[in-house]
Amino acid sequence: MRWRPFRRGRAATGSRTDDDAATRERRRMVAEQIEARGLRDPELIRALLTVPRHAFVGAAENAHAYEDRALGIGSGQTISQPYVVAAMTDAARPRSPAGWRGARALEIGTGSGYQAALLAELGADVVSIERHADLAAEAAERLAAAGYGPERIEVRVADGTHGAPDAGPFDAILVTAASPTVPEPLISQLSPDGGRLVIPVGERESQALTVVERRGDEVTRRRMEQVVFVPLIGEHGFAAEDAEG
Ligand code: SAH
Repeated sequence: MRWRPFRRGRAATGSRTDDDAATRERRRMVAEQIEARGLRDPELIRALLTVPRHAFVGAAENAHAYEDRALGIGSGQTISQPYVVAAMTDAARPRSPAGWRGARALEIGTGSGYQAALLAELGADVVSIERHADLAAEAAERLAAAGYGPERIEVRVADGTHGAPDAGPFDAILVTAASPTVPEPLISQLSPDGGRLVIPVGERESQALTVVERRGDEVTRRRMEQVVFVPLIGEHGFAAEDAEG
């Protein structure tokens, strides 16, 4: 799959005008939505300025890629608002001096692939799990086209509520779908050395972003802002019939 042009009909895919327009939109997104709301980590800012968010949304939403809201990505799923992606990433940042460099990261809910691309751009080795095979295949193609191939991001099709026991422990786990509780397998796959899990926990209609941190056997929880995500559907999440009607 080729990248879609940023402004349809204005410039050919990958042309200079196209790239410049997207670069300007990303600078504005970072200034107005990210820095203005207090997120300042220079590495995170650089990654947000680098990853071509417009390449991860479908043609219909292309012109809206950098707006301050979630967008549809097909199969009834959404790509989160840029600020929510940034805030979750910031909250999961490994505390070691190397930060994201060489960190092992797990994402549940690949969706468009944008969040996975951001983690790879930050320097993490990423495993990302998606339950919809079609979304996973499309995301893997988009990621490869954007330069984040399988050596940086492994996309798996599975029920992500089981995590990836063969690939852990993880320094960071991001769950980008809403769960009634924190899935136990994910806590056990957190690095005991300060591993952090960020997950929206709550009802179907509204959740609290929750940060779970593990130090040895001690597990602490902290709540951040209220958010609305599509449901995490699986053994340790919502039941399919609850969530999909
Ligand atoms: N992080 C994505 C957005 C995710 S939307 C992005 O950057 O675009 C939530 C995704 O979670 C959807 O694609 C949905 O299909 C997926 N999902 C829901 N339950 C899941 C489960 N148990 N395992 C893996 N993926 C799941």
